[in-house]
Formats: sequence, structure tokens, C-alpha cells
Amino acid sequence: MRVLVQKFGGTSLATAERRSQVTAKISEAIREGFSPVVVVSAIGRTGDPYATDTFINMVKGISTELPQRELDLLISCGEVISGTVMVSTLKSLGFDAVLLTGGQAGIITNNNFGDARIIRVEPKKIVEHLKEGKVVVVTGFQGITEDGQVTTLGRGGSDTTASALGVALNAEAIDIYTDVEGIMTADPRIVEDARIIDVVTYNEICQLAHQGAKVIHPRAVEIAMQRNIPLRIKCAFSDAPGTLVTSLQADMSVGTDITGDRTITGIAHTPKVTQICIPTLNLPDILLANKQIFRGMALADISVDFISVQPEAILYTVRDDEADKAVKILENMGFNPSVVPSCAKVSIVGAGIHGVPGVMADMAEALSDAGVRILQSADSHTTIWVLVDQENMVKAVQALHKKFKLGA
Ligand code: ADP
Ligand code: MG
Repeated sequence: MRVLVQKFGGTSLATAERRSQVTAKISEAIREGFSPVVVVSAIGRTGDPYATDTFINMVKGISTELPQRELDLLISCGEVISGTVMVSTLKSLGFDAVLLTGGQAGIITNNNFGDARIIRVEPKKIVEHLKEGKVVVVTGFQGITEDGQVTTLGRGGSDTTASALGVALNAEAIDIYTDVEGIMTADPRIVEDARIIDVVTYNEICQLAHQGAKVIHPRAVEIAMQRNIPLRIKCAFSDAPGTLVTSLQADMSVGTDITGDRTITGIAHTPKVTQICIPTLNLPDILLANKQIFRGMALADISVDFISVQPEAILYTVRDDEADKAVKILENMGFNPSVVPSCAKVSIVGAGIHGVPGVMADMAEALSDAGVRILQSADSHTTIWVLVDQENMVKAVQALHKKFKLGA
């Protein structure tokens, strides 16, 4: 059996016309000899009647006390609705189709409601249905705990569902259909001439996704990478080939060098972060302070980023919405933190950065010429991050995109 996982995002399912384009992609797969497993997200975006945010807002006004367990039950309905609509559409066109919830499809997660992690997939039911020649539609974004509780996987979780099923079913490929024609050199919403990346390594896309490129969930990339299953990001409304995400090794075997002379693959941005600075020069016990500060954040479940421990200060960033909590904890421990709210992290990513002189020079030059001050920076062998004021974020992304000649 040749399994193909096809995931359709919320916008692809919003109207009857779009759903007919989606079914065309499914029937094309069948014609090519594949057994398709179709993963669906909730229909629409914020404000639409069956979108995830609409469900959240529905109960938010009633009580702030609703446990995440119940909230997960509620928001898991969005995919049940879109899945049912999809099965009806397929049936109306003469396809034999069946809908499975995450739990019914065998997606077992831990019990971290709202942001659960898939620990195992038991695809027996899916395989049974596929063997009967059915199109199996699976609700994305959700699973079930060992003791039968419905969980959701966090934002972008349907991508993760698709990858997990792809690995469990040893699929030939995982196709992620969305509203853009592939992964681009920057978010097309802020860079007009952003270009589609044809082929790219799992590692680079993982970095881009972790740094804020919301087109694919980083966990989905990590899962596909484990078993080297090709991941393709495409548009349901066009025949463009999209972006192929693969490993460098796999591609070298067919004789192409996918990084070529490309130094920078893309630019990502994450808004809404706060920089925290704790002066340490006059502290009586700096070693104790280092320990206390990061343990304090960890105990409060605040994730920290952009950490820079220097002789005179400890710097790091937190999400804007966790900044007040972080500052209170620090003040209660006797520290005197200062904060810079509303910052953004802008990252340039490329497997080719490593060992290439002058990349940081170009980055600094582009930002200076655009009048953007760098508040902090860090680098790894594939990424250089800078922290800037959020009001400069778009300007920074655009300037870097131009400087590294990423445009069309
Ligand atoms: P879906 O509902 O299909 O999962 P998403 O909104 O999660 O869709 O992802 C698609 C969006 O990701 C695009 O509309 C685009 O604005 C945004 N995006 C951000 N960075 C990139 C990028 N580098 N390439 C393509 N799209 C990007
Ligand atoms: Mg998405």
C-alpha cells in the first residue's frame, strides 16, 4: 500500500469551491495509486463560526475557571466539524470515506492539555479502513491520553498530526496544503517580493519554524525528519510544485546539492517579546543569582530565550504576556530588573552561514542603514538572531531580505 498523507489547513476548507479543489487533490492522489489519509484543521480563522478561536471566545466570557481539559474537549470540535464536512463532500462525489477523531485514529498523547505531545501512534484502525479502499479523514490537532481524555496539540498542531501519521504509516510523502504556494524566503504578508524556496533541508525549516515562520509547525518537521519522509508544502488552489523539505543526504544521492551557493535561506520574525536585564555587578553572590534566576523562571513555567550571561548583567527575553509575572518573581527574590517591552526577534537562517565570513557584517550594515538598532544578538552555525524594537520589525525583515538578495 502506498500511503500519502494530505493535510489541509483551515482556509482550504472554508468554502464549497475550495473544498472541491481539495477533493481534486485527493482524487489526483488516488489516480496516482496512493491510499490517501486526509488530515483536516478547523474551518476558517478568528471570527469565523467554527474556528478554534471562536470556540475559545465562546466560553471565555462566561468564566475564567474552565479547566483546560474541558477547553480541549470544546476546541477539538472544530476539526470534527470540518472532518464531517469533508467526508460529506467526498461522499457526494462518490468516494468512500470515513472520519476518525485523533483518538480513534490511534494518536496517543501525554496529558498536557492544550499543548499535548504525541507519544505514540497506533494506526491499526486507519490501516483497516485503507485496506477497504476508503479515504480516511482524520481530525488534526488532537489526540487522546492513555486513559481516554481528549487532548489538543497546540497551535499548528494539525501539521504535527500529519507528520506523526506519515511516520506511523510509513507514507511516501506528507503534503501540507496551505494558503501560500510553499515556504517562502520571508512571510509574504510583510515582504512583497518573498520567493518560494523549491528545496530545503529539514534542519533549515526547523530553524525557520522555531524562529516564527508560521507556515509549518517545527514539531511536524522534526517528526518527518526522524524517518526521512519527504514533506511538501503546497497550495491547494494551484498546481505549483511547492516546497520540498528533505535531508541533504537523501538529495545528494540523486546528485543535487540543495544548498548550492545559497548562504541565507530565509528570514523569520517573532513579535511580542520582552527583554529583561538584571544588573549583577553589585550583587553579593553572583553564582547564587545565576542559579536562582533561571530556576525561578523554570518553576513558574516561563520559557526564556536569548540568554546572555555577562559579568555585569544577565539578559534574557520572555513573551510579552509573561513579562509581568517574570518581573514579580525577580523582585520577590530581591533583584532589580529593568525591562524593554514590545521587542521582536528577527532571525536569518541558512545552512550556508557556517564559516562564511561577513554574514554578520552584512546583517549589521543592513540594519544600521535602515536605522534599526540591535538590542541584543546571538548566533549558531545556521542562524543569527537579533532583537529589535517591535516597531522596527517589518523594516528589519525587509532590509535583510534585500541585503541578502532573497527577493524574486
Ligand atoms: P494553515 O491554516 O494552512 O495551517 P497557516 O496560517 O498556519 O496556514 O500558515 C500559512 C501562513 O504562514 C501564510 O499565510 C503566511 O502568511 C505565513 N508565513 C509566515 N512565514 C512564512 C514563510 N516563510 N513562507 C510562507 N508563509 C509564511
Ligand atoms: Mg498552520
